[in-house]
Amino acid sequence: MSGKILEIENLTVSFDGFKAINNLTFNMDEGELRVVIGPNGAGKTTFMDVITGKTKPTEGRVFFKGKSLLPYSEHEIACLGIGRKFQTPRVYLKLTPRENLELSCARYKTVLNSLFGRTSTAERRTVTGLLETIGLSLKADIPAELLSHGEKQRLEIGMLVAQSPDLLLVDEPVAGLTDEETEKVGDLLLALAESHSIMVIEHDMEFVRQIARKVTVLHQGSVLCEGSIEEVQNDPRVIEVYLGQQPSISDHQMKVLRIIASMAWADGELSRAELDLMLSQLSRLFSSDAEQQEKLRDELSVYVLQDVPVDQALDEIASPEERELVAKLSYDVIRASSQKSGSESINEWEARDYQDLIDHLDLPSDALTRLQTTVEA
Ligand code: ADP
Ligand code: MG
Repeated sequence: MSGKILEIENLTVSFDGFKAINNLTFNMDEGELRVVIGPNGAGKTTFMDVITGKTKPTEGRVFFKGKSLLPYSEHEIACLGIGRKFQTPRVYLKLTPRENLELSCARYKTVLNSLFGRTSTAERRTVTGLLETIGLSLKADIPAELLSHGEKQRLEIGMLVAQSPDLLLVDEPVAGLTDEETEKVGDLLLALAESHSIMVIEHDMEFVRQIARKVTVLHQGSVLCEGSIEEVQNDPRVIEVYLGQQPSISDHQMKVLRIIASMAWADGELSRAELDLMLSQLSRLFSSDAEQQEKLRDELSVYVLQDVPVDQALDEIASPEERELVAKLSYDVIRASSQKSGSESINEWEARDYQDLIDHLDLPSDALTRLQTTVEA
């Protein structure tokens, strides 16, 4: 036993001479949750197409639990234990979530058999458990067409799990979901990761941060780099190709952002509440146009996820107004995490770094008074 669920060697996929996958080598351990990211056109979907047998490689080798997949058809590969969730949900809308799951459990029966045949007790127990896992117990018996987009996504992930695959492939599960639904899908994948090997393709960076352990970055059909989310996001090559451009905000704005992000990072982690607050406040600060703010959120999320030293940035925030703004925004951000965790007080690391920040900013006394008033309120 190699302990590897997937081993991919020197994989190339050409479409009329264009290499969508270019000499790619990739390994994944049994039981791992792996996130694959990369800009549009990087080859992510093609990569999944090859693993599932939908596309045959031009060159290279693909092993699943030590067995070469190349001789097998898409259907045979599914039977070998690789399940795939596509971007758009594929559930039976007229059936209830429970019925959808029962159908999926009966992978080896025909559709008609499992509709009219009786479901065994063991199966019913799995279905009940699955409904709980995907958070749809209360909506188990209404037609699936009445579910929200996020609930349909979770149902489809449940249907995938019902087929008990050894490897789950999930392509952009949170595209078009609200923040709250996104977090639920993330929690679900984390729960499933305790007993499954899962590969998730995604480009929502906030979501990647929520679930990622090890991240692989694809670029032009090859692996650009691999590591923890912190490692890959601090890699300048990743920032460059992921955004495909220079930052759209000014150097100066970047410095403001760094200072505020460093406050949020003071305790060594970035909570979702801190992240949300930073992204909305900063995007509004940097642009007054709603559409532009939306774009900025995506871009800024890449920057704030890096915890970088700020001493120098601090010295360059010159005007008193701006220093006051930085102090105020930083306070809001560290407040966000304490409110989220339910405790009244700001945690000690963040408090200490905040005190340092205030000392360093050397605010005029009237600004300090104004700040104190907000803090007390
Ligand atoms: P991603 O999912 O990372 O956005 P894809 O795997 O969908 O990227 O595509 C990678 C590249 O391969 C893109 O440039 C795309 O246009 C090209 N491509 C994908 N499928 C085909 C195909 N069937 N024929 C020709 N080109 C394709
Ligand atoms: Mg894709």
